[in-house]
Amino acid sequence: MSLADHLAARIQADGPMSVAAYMADCLLHPQYGYYTTRDPLGAKGDFITAPEISQMFGELIGLALAQCWLDQGAPAPFTLAELGPGRGTLMADLLRATRGVPGFHAAMQLCLVEASPELRKSQAKTLEAYAPEWLDHADALPDQPLFLVANEFFDALPIRQFIRSGDHWSEKRIGLTDGALAFGLSPAAPQPALDHRLQDTQEGDLVEICDAAAPATQAIAARIATHGGAALIADYGDWRALGDTLQALRAHEPADPLQAPGEADLTAHVDFEALAMAAKSKGCAYTRLTPQGVFLERLGITDRARALAAPLQGDRLKTLIAAHRRLTHPEEMGNLFKILGLYPSQAAPPPGLNP
Ligand code: SAH
Repeated sequence: MSLADHLAARIQADGPMSVAAYMADCLLHPQYGYYTTRDPLGAKGDFITAPEISQMFGELIGLALAQCWLDQGAPAPFTLAELGPGRGTLMADLLRATRGVPGFHAAMQLCLVEASPELRKSQAKTLEAYAPEWLDHADALPDQPLFLVANEFFDALPIRQFIRSGDHWSEKRIGLTDGALAFGLSPAAPQPALDHRLQDTQEGDLVEICDAAAPATQAIAARIATHGGAALIADYGDWRALGDTLQALRAHEPADPLQAPGEADLTAHVDFEALAMAAKSKGCAYTRLTPQGVFLERLGITDRARALAAPLQGDRLKTLIAAHRRLTHPEEMGNLFKILGLYPSQAAPPPGLNP
């Protein structure tokens, strides 16, 4: 049996499924899920992420979080956490860069929120020296100051898609047509969660909701507001998403999201406004949404690249220059990816970000 067979059987039994239910099965089905069964990252995988492009990304995020920790009086103990740590590369770079911050490592309790058993294994190897603890959900994070990073985590959470019809909304669903997976629409109905989108949309527009994003953000924000801390959330998306952003990537090429389920990465743009509002509901402050390129330049990525470049020549130098460009240039990841910071309302915002 394949995931396609499992999905077909599920649709035959229960009727068409939401895009969110489809995404959840494709990514995290215990037996056939994309993340459950493989390591999808890197040149041989399906996609590459900022920390896999260069060590500079994790180093600068690490120094920014350590600066927040110092600014807030170096609370001890505290949680250092990452949501969806992939291969553990970002965390390893972050920990190496913060070795020299007095007391930081001694006071930290390292927590990794990760759903994939395969990726937990790779994280265990990369981060062996730091004795991490794995959690299934952000709401299991300890009740203490929390310094957290999430890179390309929220884009992997399942979204629902709705098409506007008058003041009502039809939900996009996945059913079977001649035995093959196909998109369809549910009858239009009111959607109170989309009331705020009646102002900025028109008949036929498609909007997306990520039901899992707010609870995860609230769990983080509640700890930061109560005990102190900071979160840096990096992802592609905008303040408010409009249109169909569901995307499948296979071997670095766009693919049809309904083709070969479980064999391609599925993501959707992050609706950062929803994260900011969830944080605010817990009394946590949020920063202006900032392009990744601007954020990394403010943290000094060009100086760091120069220092790393000094001993290099030939191909290794070219690779470093290309990595700097890829992370920061507006035509590469610099503008598409954005950073949202969360912090206690009485504290300074994280370095590189404005209130
Ligand atoms: N942050 C890493 C990996 C990004 S890929 C990097 O930048 O390279 C997305 C990560 O989130 C993977 O580790 C994946 O297994 C994890 N993930 C996806 N959905 C999740 C969920 N619902 N709960 C916990 N982890 C999840």
